[in-house]
Amino acid sequence: MSKKILIVGGVAGGASTAARLRRLDETAEIVMFERDEYISFANCGLPYYIGESIKERSKLLVQTPESMKARFQIDVRNNSEVIKVDSDKKVVTVKSKTKGEYEESYDYLVLSPGAKALRPNIPGIESEKIFTLRNIPDTDRIKEYVDRLGTMSAVVIGGGFVGVEMAENLKERGLTVTLVEAAPHILAPFDFDMSILAEKELVDNGVRLITQDGVKSFAETGSQVEVTLNSDTKITADLVILAIGVAPDTKFLSDSGLAFGPRGHILVNDKMETNKEGIYAVGDAIEVIDFVTKNSTAIPLAGPANKQGRIAADNIAGLKSTFKGSQGTSIIKVFDLTAASTGANERALQKAGLEYKTIFVHPVSHASYYPSAVPMTLKLIFNQEGKVLGAQGIGYDGVDKRIDVIATVIRLGGTIEDLTELELSYAPPFSSAKDPVNMAGFVAQNVLEGRSHVATWGDVEEMELEDFVLVDVRTELEYSNGHVEGAINIPVDELRDRLSELDPNKTIVEYCQVGLRGYVADRILTQHGYKVMNVTGGYKSISSLNFKPQLEPISAVQSEIDPDTQTVKAASVPMSRNVGDFDKSLDACGLCCPGPLMQVKASMEDLQEGQILRVAASDPGFFEDIKAWCKRTNNELLDLTKVGGNITAFIKKLGKSNEALIQCQEVGEVKDNKTLVVFSGDLDKAIASFIIANGAASMGKKVTMFFTFWGLNILRKPQKVKVKKGMMDKMFGVMMPRGSKKLKLSNMNMMGMGGKMIRMVMKNKNVSSLEELIQSAIDSGIEIVACQMSLDVMGLKQEELIDGVKIGGVGYYLGEAEDSNVNLFI
Ligand code: FAD
Repeated sequence: MSKKILIVGGVAGGASTAARLRRLDETAEIVMFERDEYISFANCGLPYYIGESIKERSKLLVQTPESMKARFQIDVRNNSEVIKVDSDKKVVTVKSKTKGEYEESYDYLVLSPGAKALRPNIPGIESEKIFTLRNIPDTDRIKEYVDRLGTMSAVVIGGGFVGVEMAENLKERGLTVTLVEAAPHILAPFDFDMSILAEKELVDNGVRLITQDGVKSFAETGSQVEVTLNSDTKITADLVILAIGVAPDTKFLSDSGLAFGPRGHILVNDKMETNKEGIYAVGDAIEVIDFVTKNSTAIPLAGPANKQGRIAADNIAGLKSTFKGSQGTSIIKVFDLTAASTGANERALQKAGLEYKTIFVHPVSHASYYPSAVPMTLKLIFNQEGKVLGAQGIGYDGVDKRIDVIATVIRLGGTIEDLTELELSYAPPFSSAKDPVNMAGFVAQNVLEGRSHVATWGDVEEMELEDFVLVDVRTELEYSNGHVEGAINIPVDELRDRLSELDPNKTIVEYCQVGLRGYVADRILTQHGYKVMNVTGGYKSISSLNFKPQLEPISAVQSEIDPDTQTVKAASVPMSRNVGDFDKSLDACGLCCPGPLMQVKASMEDLQEGQILRVAASDPGFFEDIKAWCKRTNNELLDLTKVGGNITAFIKKLGKSNEALIQCQEVGEVKDNKTLVVFSGDLDKAIASFIIANGAASMGKKVTMFFTFWGLNILRKPQKVKVKKGMMDKMFGVMMPRGSKKLKLSNMNMMGMGGKMIRMVMKNKNVSSLEELIQSAIDSGIEIVACQMSLDVMGLKQEELIDGVKIGGVGYYLGEAEDSNVNLFI
């Protein structure tokens, strides 16, 4: 006799069960009840339809009742809610929009009712401008509201997957978006040291992010909603998306005799059977076993729901499939970033009382010499036995496949050794010969086998200051660009010669940029008897922790916030919406810092007050640089976007403010000039000097470079110039480098090879050469002054120097330094 199977819920789990059942059993009678009109729709695509990345609504409808009937002979009853289950009589009660209430008997019942969005009893929650997103009707309502003329702003409550996706998609639609998260950080599957990178991406893309603040109340204010947070901050917006989590939609089962978990999830065994004979349950409504910690949990994701549906169908059809737990592998797009995770995070392991270790690596997505390689951050979590417990990855490219590979290793019970041995596909456009997954394995293996002694920055912060010495083993240049307060700088290449500077009685906590040189330093120091801790992930990981969400990310958003009431006003110029018109366009793609800024400055000079410059750039640093540049030069940054690594800025020239600033400078109110004393004649120091000087000039600052002693060699003409000199002066002149092309590197000169290499690297990376930088400095009005006294001492004449150089004395320099707020000695 054929089986009669009823299915409750017609989307992920329900539709999967139905299709698999039919494929296994052609004779079964299969009825699928769905409360709403639509079945088998793409829940995961809903935010992207609202954001209009998915243009056609029909694309969301994967199956219809008619197509399910035609292909699978499924009796789909939509608009039919199951309101009661009698597990003793094996009967369900159905409330149909067309047929009214009726009963239906079953041999087997599969429950896949999913989870509903939480809507807690907060004052004002009944407002029609507060939306949740679960299904097609919700999507239609939100989209219709966003499409309405005059909808300018939104508050998204909740920084989980749906909240972040909605924030991004509403921003893509041009709305001013504030994302509010009650926890200290967004995206709970990630540890905070990773989710912070996603937070920065949101803020960089103009989303106002407020963390650690929950909602106290809502109130309608005319056409808008006012959201009051626990901190009493008030945000007014046209609509609110409530995305604070989900609860199993199982209320209709309260009299069914089924067993439930503490939060209302249906309890099942590994065959998806409930405690009642013939009843199975799958999807968001059930409790599952965490694959790594083996604790009970609930993981509302589409992958597990679909697989569980298949397993329930198998068992009903007599096959012996089992569900072995969920490891929560998930992924999200946050503007241009990809954030993915699998397995347990630190919080889950701590809760389960399990010991673990973590390492960070920052490998590139593919061979660094092949175009478009971009770095990613991978965090690996493993135990002392080498078993891989979890991984998280964030980056612009290639994160998905690395996390999927590690997810596979976890599923197969794999170890760190397996990660080191995996043979993964490689050609330069796709990966490196040592794939990021292998790299993470190597680093973890070194830790496990005691060759590397890593610590997270969190571990270091818990140490007593007097117990350790903090050493930055990067180059001087890197150190001077930014370092951890209190760190001394001993570049790894100088470490062996400078061991005497380190106290052998203290732990040496050292870091490099990403952890690799730190490992070399660890090996050197350990073999010299030091106790060492190498900060995993290096300065890159440490510095990312400093990120704090800004409330006013860029001027367009600032203008929408009333400084007195902290209220978001309707945006007058919505970002990315109206900023289409511009007076001049600049393509600075391919140029490295300070190239784009220098070009911006030159282009702005050609514009009239009120005119707009559109700039395209690809240097990642430009995203931050241009904000600072506009602020410092009093130009208005109308819009700033970053799409797939391409940065576009719209800048409005504000002549009056500039004039006001200049007037201030003239009456001596603002001492804002920059002075550089260039003493060194080393190639690298000369490059650094001119980069800084050009950068400052591009920000509209008056810059004076005062060249003295060896620094004068930078200014020498390359060709011999006939001048009258004494014997001593002539000898000096022959021994010293004749001009910028003959300068040597301060380190790793290697008989001139180092200098050639650095010039080649600069060329490949589109950084201007020293000669171009000098010319730019002269063109942009930087004062280049040769010290008269040094010229005399070195036996050089003015004719031997390049054109455009002024001769000045110490008095001139001191006068300029008086009017400066930055004075560097290089
Ligand atoms: P659902 O797919 O929600 O289906 C349950 C169905 O049962 C509903 O249609 C409901 O109307 C119906 N129903 C409930 N009670 C009854 C009743 N008594 N009688 C009749 N019918 C009933 N997961 C991912 O893995 N990746 C993603 O990118 C992702 N994005 C998402 C984006 C959004 C906006 C949402 C809402 C979810 C997203 N998810 C994502 C989660 C994923 O959609 C769910 O995990 C998955 O759909 C769960 O399947 P399910 O069958 O348990 O429930």
